Amino acid sequence: MRAWHAISGAARYLRAWLAGDRADDAAMLNRLRMCAVCPSMTRRRKFGRSRTLWCGQPFDPVRNISCGCLLASHKEEGAAVSVTVEGVEYEPAGKLVVGTEVCPRGFW
Ligand code: SF4
Repeated sequence: MRAWHAISGAARYLRAWLAGDRADDAAMLNRLRMCAVCPSMTRRRKFGRSRTLWCGQPFDPVRNISCGCLLASHKEEGAAVSVTVEGVEYEPAGKLVVGTEVCPRGFW
C-alpha cells in the first residue's frame, strides 16, 4: 500500500522504502499531524479519484518553505495511521513514509 503511494510521488521514495529506510507509525502520525496544519500544505485531487496532500506545489520546491513532495493520500482500508483534514481522512505517503526525509521548514 505505502509502496504504491510512494511510486505516485517519486521513485526515490519507493527505493528508500524498499531499502528499509522506513518511518515507524508514531513518526508518520507525528509528521502527518504537523503537515496537516502547516501553511505550506496544499491539497490536490489528481491521480484518478484520489485526493492527496503536498508540501507546497507538487514537484515545485521553494527553498526553506516547501519541497514539492507528496505527503499523504486519501485513506484506504487497512491504513494503520491517518489524520482527517477538512473532513477527508488521509494516510501517510511519499515523503512521510521514508525515515530519513526531513521537513524543509524544520518542523520534523
Ligand atoms: S513537510 Fe514541513 S513544510 Fe512541508 S507541509 Fe509538512 S510540515 Fe509543512
